[in-house]
Amino acid sequence: MRRISIFGATGSVGQNTVSIVKRNPSAFDVHAVTGALNIELLAQTAKDINAKIAVTSESNLLNHLKERLKGTGISAKSGRHSMLEVAANPVDVSMSAVVGFAGLELSLEMAKHGQTLALANKESLVCGGALLRETCDRAGTKLFPVDSEHSAIFQALNGEKLSDVERIILTASGGPFLHSSLAEMSDATPKQAADHPNWSMGKRISIDSASMFNKAMEVIETKELFNIPSDKIEVIIHPQSIVHSMVGYKDGAIIAQMGPADMCGAIGYALYWPNRTDAGVERLDFATLSNLEFSAVDNSRFPAISIAHSAMKQGGIAGAVFNAAKEQSLDLFLENKIKFLDMADMVAKTVQATAAFGNCEASSMDKISKADKWSRDFVLNLVEMSK
Ligand code: NDP
Ligand code: MG
Repeated sequence: MRRISIFGATGSVGQNTVSIVKRNPSAFDVHAVTGALNIELLAQTAKDINAKIAVTSESNLLNHLKERLKGTGISAKSGRHSMLEVAANPVDVSMSAVVGFAGLELSLEMAKHGQTLALANKESLVCGGALLRETCDRAGTKLFPVDSEHSAIFQALNGEKLSDVERIILTASGGPFLHSSLAEMSDATPKQAADHPNWSMGKRISIDSASMFNKAMEVIETKELFNIPSDKIEVIIHPQSIVHSMVGYKDGAIIAQMGPADMCGAIGYALYWPNRTDAGVERLDFATLSNLEFSAVDNSRFPAISIAHSAMKQGGIAGAVFNAAKEQSLDLFLENKIKFLDMADMVAKTVQATAAFGNCEASSMDKISKADKWSRDFVLNLVEMSK
């Protein structure tokens, strides 16, 4: 039986994790579940999977959570400090599935305690990859990617030497605007952008997929997670999302990992490793798979990946700046204050201006937080100035 805590349990990855636990309850002993605003779902989830503790990040919602858990024996907690306290509580597996920069500090806390860290929060690696890896190494924590592409790469690297890797090929569905013109993309609404053709995910990552900022984040995530030079990482459009990613070796061989577009595959792999157990994923039927298409990314419509490359070239806190500019621009787009294509423009300008920091390493939470704040303010100033 594995003792598990699920951070971001009310979200898309969190609920997929919960479905895996529910499918095989005797395999898991749930210590804690966390959420933010969705108290009804948090309380229901805690009851459904017999969690000992439920935490909301929102202090003003504690009474609501307590009321929903009355008589169950489940302890209700709230606030950032309680989330960090729970993250410091050693379990066998911690699922880090909070969305955004808020996830980094939690991942770092989980990483300090020698457990398995199942990492969905890609922002942790983009903003503080080296720090997170060092923290894991020091504590003997195993770091498992939950992002489907990175789980695929992890599986394709199994038993191979990293020194034999020639290239990593990340697949991208292309999102809802794969065939849209620049004019159509310019007028895209948040609702259109959040309508992902293949994957069912949270709103923010869905819109990041439409702009390909999600793939750009994943390129940085790949570099940080596998310690692979950025010039060995390629992105290819694959609209069917069946091939989740590939590793190319020195002898020309390519190892691909395939499956339906269902996050339970990658989550189940991280939770059950080194075993493989049925996580409820549909089986691929090759007789009905009519075609698997691949094509190059159109950088003029999707500049996010080249912006990520300039951030990687700068190194240090540029990853945190890139992520914060992207998060802030997304907020502005969701508030209808900027247009869809403005997001890439804002992030590019902010990353370019990172030189203001000099060569600052992302070596502590404090330095990363300062870079995050600087970047968000920079984007807000850009918008102010454009009025
Ligand atoms: P969702 O928006 O669906 O869920 C986010 C979770 O985080 C919810 O539980 C939410 O609580 C909670 N949360 C939000 N803000 C805070 C905060 N400030 N402090 C604490 N908790 C907070 O996101 P996803 O599940 O889509 O994504 C989670 C992470 O996994 C992201 O980093 C994403 O990039 C990554 N990922 C997601 C994939 C997917 O398929 N969805 C695939 C690969 C990676 P509440 O809802 O109660 O407000
Ligand atoms: Mg992904």
